Amino acid sequence: MAEKKAKVRLYVDAPLGSAQSVTLGRNQAHYLFSVMRLGVGDMVALFNGRDGEWLAEIGRAARREGQLQCLRQSARQMMPPDLWLLFAPIKKARTDFIVEKAAEMGVARIQPVQTRFTNAERIRQERLQAHAIEAAEQCGGTFVPPVMSLRPLGQVLDEWPGDRRIMFCDEAKVGARVALEGACAGPWAVLIGPEGGFSPDERRRLHAMAQATPVSLGPRILRADTAAVAAMTLWQLTLGDWK
Ligand code: SAH
Repeated sequence: MAEKKAKVRLYVDAPLGSAQSVTLGRNQAHYLFSVMRLGVGDMVALFNGRDGEWLAEIGRAARREGQLQCLRQSARQMMPPDLWLLFAPIKKARTDFIVEKAAEMGVARIQPVQTRFTNAERIRQERLQAHAIEAAEQCGGTFVPPVMSLRPLGQVLDEWPGDRRIMFCDEAKVGARVALEGACAGPWAVLIGPEGGFSPDERRRLHAMAQATPVSLGPRILRADTAAVAAMTLWQLTLGDWK
């Protein structure tokens, strides 16, 4: 008999491996059995961000819990390039969008930063992390970028690693040629400012950093969420795993 296909991809915390059994908590049991109407014998594709994707069979399906058994690895673990996304949180739905797109497009870490003109004083880190997980479930990814807690940009730059370059998306360069000048492979971060742009002090500081490369994103000023997607595309094409 042909093996059943997995209709659902699910992110779990548990280790995955040959004959490994995975216990589901209440929310995931509810999702699989009540929402998706799966039952004993059905297949689910599981990933945990470390062990690749595994095809697993449902062995027990109760209202509040369940158990799956890993059968075989269906995809190898694929890590994203070493790219961080630094962005200033904006309105809720647009911030959700940025996190979702970053997880789909392939970044290793998402770091929200508070800049001079950032309005948000808080982010809902758990909610954003859940968005990143959902994006990975949808897009077939096996890695989920961690969403870090919101930190002041100045503090993040104080501790900036010497070997990590910054693709500083500088709205003052609007209209300049779009290129990652002198870009070399290695660890990178994309930096996107808030709707209000960077302050003169922030811009001065970034221009003075040896690691930072100011970059134009074309002849128009983009909204921050559009800019994030455009910048990740440009980086992925030039230096990442799309090339
Ligand atoms: N209010 C600002 C624009 C902010 S746009 C102004 O009018 O100048 C939000 C962020 O998107 C910017 O901080 C920058 O990081 C990025 N961005 C938008 N358009 C850009 C462009 N053409 N070139 C480089 N960065 C851009």
